[in-house]
Amino acid sequence: MQDRPEPRARQETPTLSVVVPVYNEGEGLPAFHARLSRVMNDLGESWEVVYVNDGSQDGSLAALEALRADDPACAVVNLSRNFGKEIAMTAGLDHAGGAAVVMIDADLQDPPEVIPDLVAAWRQGWDMVYAQRRVREGETWMKRATADLFYRTMQRIGRVRMPRNTGDFRLMSRRVVDALLQLREQHRFMKGLFAWVGFPAIAVPYDRAPRHAGRSSFNYCKLWNFALEGITSFTVMPLKVATYLGLATALLAAAYGGQIIVRTLLFGNPVPGYPSLMAVILFLGGAQLVTLGIIGEYLGRVFNETKGRPLYLVERYQPSRPLAPPRPHFAPPARAPAEP
Ligand code: UDP
Ligand code: MG
Repeated sequence: MQDRPEPRARQETPTLSVVVPVYNEGEGLPAFHARLSRVMNDLGESWEVVYVNDGSQDGSLAALEALRADDPACAVVNLSRNFGKEIAMTAGLDHAGGAAVVMIDADLQDPPEVIPDLVAAWRQGWDMVYAQRRVREGETWMKRATADLFYRTMQRIGRVRMPRNTGDFRLMSRRVVDALLQLREQHRFMKGLFAWVGFPAIAVPYDRAPRHAGRSSFNYCKLWNFALEGITSFTVMPLKVATYLGLATALLAAAYGGQIIVRTLLFGNPVPGYPSLMAVILFLGGAQLVTLGIIGEYLGRVFNETKGRPLYLVERYQPSRPLAPPRPHFAPPARAPAEP
């Protein structure tokens, strides 16, 4: 796959990788990295953090490069433009070398302090450890209600079961990451893909905090498209609804036609019927337009997939420089890892 980097040499890979998509998070990044690195260093494992700059327009890239200059655990993948969070996360996974990979938002809504719990569950043998929100602080009633409706709908019509109240904040074992990275579709609905790959999964509850700095880049228009993506990526149910709607309409029309014939035969035809005619025409027209729209949604996605474009383009990749792990004294001295 042309957009995936070469796997790194074995001894260079850390035990834990943290993947962080970054879009216009400049002001919050130093605070985020400070909290993250405190938590990760306390874990006592080799680790790296892969920051993916998703075409930010603020000083995020400069902030990331400053972090990397100070901390060899930082890798920076700079995408050539804004590709959206789902693809930014995929780029991060592609560049993460760890035996387990944690995905976390840069806005401190997902507290890094939860990571040790995720790692503990992974140590017990779980492949997918997702952080499940206990409360959603700092979010409006409306957002909570729409999120709730979405999970409910997906559980009902989708084939995959997505755990409720989970975001992208989670830990994945290497085999889950490798499985996930085999799915190179353009329309990436990550929450669905996580559920699709399967493997033993467990939830770790946590409290989601309000945003630390900056503002959410998600609005209702984006969320609606997100929900549409989720539904069309994981179920063809709406297409079936269209079929049955058409079938039901045809049956009703046949019954109505029969009734008109019988009535005309019995009582003659005094030519009324403008309202009923109008009602039927409008109803059929509406049903047809909706059906065409649904087909269009799927067709558009087929079109996008057939182009087979790479998911993203990397403008510059600056890998982390993991410190050589402590070696037994009889081993040959380790060479310092070369600066890229
Ligand atoms: N993000 C990204 N690309 C985008 C939008 C967002 O990489 O096009 C990142 C953002 O920097 C943050 C995470 O995705 O780390 C979550 O974004 P946000 O807080 O805006 O979403 P919300 O928490 O409201 O779901
Ligand atoms: Mg957020």
